[in-house]
Amino acid sequence: MIDTTKYIFVTGGVTSSLGKGIIAASLAKLLQAQGYRVTIQKLDPYINIDPGTLNPYEHGECYVTEDGAETDLDLGHYERFLNVPTSQANSVTTGRIYQSVIQKERRGEFLGKTVQVVPHITDEIKHRIQLLGNSGDYDIVITEIGGTVGDIESLPYIEAVRQLRWDLGDNNGIVIHLTLIPYLSAAGELKTKPTQHSVKTLMESGIQADILVCRTEHKLPKELRSKLALFCNVREEAVIESLDASTIYDVPNLMLDEGLDKVVLKKLALKSATPDISKWNEFLKRHKNPKSEITIGLIGKYVELQDCYKSILEAFIHAGAVKEVKVNVESIHSEYINQDNVKLKLGHLDGVLVAPGFGERGIEGKIEAVKFVRENKVPFLGICLGMQMAVIEFARNVLNLENADSTEMNPDTEHPVVNLMEEQKIVTDKGGTMRLGAWDCELVAGSKVRDIYNADTISERHRHRYEFNNSYKDQMEAAGMKATGINPDTGLVEIIEIQDHPWFIGVQYHPEYKSTVANPHPLFVAFVKAALNHHKTKKGVRMTQN
Ligand code: GLN
Repeated sequence: MIDTTKYIFVTGGVTSSLGKGIIAASLAKLLQAQGYRVTIQKLDPYINIDPGTLNPYEHGECYVTEDGAETDLDLGHYERFLNVPTSQANSVTTGRIYQSVIQKERRGEFLGKTVQVVPHITDEIKHRIQLLGNSGDYDIVITEIGGTVGDIESLPYIEAVRQLRWDLGDNNGIVIHLTLIPYLSAAGELKTKPTQHSVKTLMESGIQADILVCRTEHKLPKELRSKLALFCNVREEAVIESLDASTIYDVPNLMLDEGLDKVVLKKLALKSATPDISKWNEFLKRHKNPKSEITIGLIGKYVELQDCYKSILEAFIHAGAVKEVKVNVESIHSEYINQDNVKLKLGHLDGVLVAPGFGERGIEGKIEAVKFVRENKVPFLGICLGMQMAVIEFARNVLNLENADSTEMNPDTEHPVVNLMEEQKIVTDKGGTMRLGAWDCELVAGSKVRDIYNADTISERHRHRYEFNNSYKDQMEAAGMKATGINPDTGLVEIIEIQDHPWFIGVQYHPEYKSTVANPHPLFVAFVKAALNHHKTKKGVRMTQN
């Protein structure tokens, strides 16, 4: 515990996608491992209130917090690295800032003043940054500012940081600037000029960077570090090299080797110790030395972009490390799966995950995939829409309810086995109106999930509007699809299992959001284990056939 909360601001220069989120999370990890209570916040300069209404192609996955905030996927990294939940306060957008300022204006709270970017918008930004610090829960708040310095839309944030640094006083707020040192292969040289320009841009806004973290594909020679220090007004020890890493989970160690945590703590006038990251390194060792290998098919419609299913991919890494298995995730576009090619596309897989999603595109391919894994006893995990597809497939092909569907895809279906939740029927706004965040779920005794979680009641995060239609529950259960997880207050079916199958589980919630390095998700661990067993059985069968 320290007396005053310290603030670290992370800005980016030269280009986007340099990995500010990973640098922030890695630094936070190192500080946490020295006993500091740390949280990370993301400020996103777009006008959407939150990324909930954004297409995954635009913005990657929408990450959901315990308290139901729909946020940037960087918050997922923060949680996965720190194993501490984030909340509404960890995610701020320009949309939200303006929304609250305008609401205050309508309430007359500005007492007749002209409402302006400075001071009203910047005050609101400063207030949001300090909310976490003032909660008393954290010693250090790391605030990542989305976008790149010099962007028009980032200006109010940069100005707020300038003011706040001034308000906080020496040693209480520092700025880390993440930048790119490009390598020109024709010249065979690393170039510092873009960084000099971006540091200059920051200075034009009144901010002197304290630390430079330099993304680079090649090691930074000593002379280049000296040059950067000289031209950018930072100490040489504060020029930190950030080489491309083979996994994001290597970055805390890379930053440790470069002494980022030490420089930061020195600038904040805090004590530094040797961080204890032994558990983290244990995870890394298992992750990097797998004893076996499996392939899981990820069936979705955004398979071209890794970012769209970020948390699922990371959850497989955590679970793989537990089992010392390399989990290859093969992305398969559901739009191109049909009855004729399903065996070809899925026949070699050790497990299949049908992904969350919205809307009609690619639905029939998902149903075809579920049919294949159900009939061929391939381990299956359906998440949210994936679970709903399993329900539809079972209704159509086992209960013979022809054209059974979700009312999301077919509002007039004769058999709405998945339908709109009652409370959703009056909802007209799209943004922030789904069933969001953590809800309790009771597990049925004797079920697979009861065994996997080893608990009677669990809490998991949600993001959906449609649900299993309970009027079909008896029929489904009689035919072998059991509802094994139920919301205690509403009776909503959260989990389905097929009994006559080695491992067939569908969940209405998103287990992937809660998987962290320190706490791999039990459902993913069990799924990987089942896929490994399936893999071994298949291999056994092949060997006896030869
Ligand atoms: N579209 C479905 C629903 O709203 C599933 C949502 C999801 O997969 N996140 O219920």
